[in-house]
Formats: sequence, structure tokens, C-alpha cells
Amino acid sequence: MLKSFREKFYAILCGETRFVCVLGSLFFFSFLANAQNQPLHVIAFGAHPDDCDLGAGGLAAKYAALGNKVKFVSLTNGDAGHQALHGEALAKRRLLEAQEAGRRIGIEYEVLDNHDGKLLPTLEVREQVIREIRQWKADIVIAPRPNDYHPDHRYTGVLVQDASYMVIVPSLVPEAPPLSRNPVFLYYSDRFTRPQPFRADVVVAIDDVFDKKINMLDAHESQFYEWLPWTEGELDHVPKDPAERKKWLATSPRGGRQLQPEWREALEKRYGTQAARVQHAEAFEITEYGRQPSEEEIRRLFPFFPAPTASH
Ligand SMILES: [Zn+2]
Repeated sequence: MLKSFREKFYAILCGETRFVCVLGSLFFFSFLANAQNQPLHVIAFGAHPDDCDLGAGGLAAKYAALGNKVKFVSLTNGDAGHQALHGEALAKRRLLEAQEAGRRIGIEYEVLDNHDGKLLPTLEVREQVIREIRQWKADIVIAPRPNDYHPDHRYTGVLVQDASYMVIVPSLVPEAPPLSRNPVFLYYSDRFTRPQPFRADVVVAIDDVFDKKINMLDAHESQFYEWLPWTEGELDHVPKDPAERKKWLATSPRGGRQLQPEWREALEKRYGTQAARVQHAEAFEITEYGRQPSEEEIRRLFPFFPAPTASH
């Protein structure tokens, strides 16, 4: 009887120990997997509701598809970007368009209530930018370069530059806890050459999400089908049928930035022989202001490149 009781006792003990071990291993391995697969937090700033979409809509769609957290922030409400609508009515329409654009690729889209065409690099807007970056716990921040034809774009670049160190300084904007680690700050591509041209440090192929990007741009009806064609005297070129005009947008130069010959080197560096087949891409410059990522970190922050081989 005693023997059988002891046997039973050991059997239960061993069984439970095994159970605890198995459970412990599961927790341990899921912890390891989580540590390696933590979602990236990416925040992009633009002056107007559609700027981020043009420069990084494809990249955002790729991040979102992998379960990463992406937010676009427009620093102005876009209330000057139309030939017939103005003020509050236009701002309302553009807010709805931006939210729809974000919904179409699975990201968050915020439009701040600063006036379009009147953005200045004030302390107030700088603090808005610091708050946004901190609250998003950003690993990556994207903004325009401060060389641009449009003053709102230029000051968006300045505002994000001015925030780039301050996001780790605790005594500023105390209601939003500072970041413990400075993010990597990127610039969108542009065509301006003075005082220096854009440098393509990271080029991401977006052929697999190009339709998603066009679908996102298509949400900004007031811009791509009304205001922008009007500014170029091409309003009568826009097809009336919604499906036709989306096709028209995909083939027009407004459908995002075109792959430039000077981006090829960075493309080939990370895609190797696959680079030759790439048709649509987005390029980014790593700014001097935030954390400077190693090649290993770049590959972790941009989990889209094929594994490096001995040949490249
Ligand atoms: Zn703009």
C-alpha cells in the first residue's frame, strides 16, 4: 500500500515537474521570440494631409502588413489646398480623406489643427512634434528635408530636426515621458539640390504594395483629382469614373516618387541581383541628428531585404 502510494506520489511529482518544465520552456521561447519580433514603431511627419503618403506610403504599407505600428502626422490641416473649398469645410474634408487613407493601409493618421500655408517653426509646434514622437515610442521618425519650395514643407523639416535631440530631454514636455533611446531619423526623397542633393541611404522596393499605395493616394480625392490637376491646368484630364481615375493616378507622375537612377546603388547593395527587377521604390536618407544605425540595425529596422549572400 505504502509502496503504491509512494509510486503514485512520485508519478504525480514527476508529471508535474515535466509539466512545469514544458510550460517554463514555452514561456522562455515565446519571450525570446517576442524580444526579436517586437513591432517597430514608425512615425512620419508631413506638412499636409497627403505628404507622408507620397514619400512613404509604400514603406508604411509594408511595415503595417508585418504587424508594425505606423502613424502619419500632418502638421497642418490642409485648409488652403483647394481652388473652390476653403477654411473649416476644406479642413474637415481633408481630415476624413486622411483617415480613410490610413484605414486603407492599416495605419493611424493624425491631422493637427495648424493652418495650411502658415506653418512656422515655433516652440508650440516643436512641442507638438516632441509629444507625438514620444507618445508613439518611435524607433524611426521620417520627415522632409528642410530644403523645399514650400515653406510648410521646409518648416516641417526644421521642426522635426529641432525635436530630434529634445525627445530624450526629460525636463521638456514633461507630460510625455522622454524616450530612453534616440530614434533613427530619416528624410523622404526630394529633387532639391541646394545646398546639397538628397542622398539615398536606404531604398525599399514597393512593387508588392504599389497598388495599396495608389489606393491610399486615391482616398485624397480633393488633392489628386481636383486641386493638384487644377494647379497644373489639367483638370479636364482627370477621368470621371472612379476606377478609371485610379488607373490614371497610377500612371501619372503624381502617383508617388519615381525610382531615380541615383538610387540604384543603394538598391543593389541590399537587393543584389533582385534589384534589376524593381520598378517602384521609396528612398530615404539617414539624418545626422538621431541614432546612427549600423548595417545590422538597418536590416533589423527595414525587415524587407533578402538575406545578404557572399556575392553582395
Ligand atoms: Zn505638401
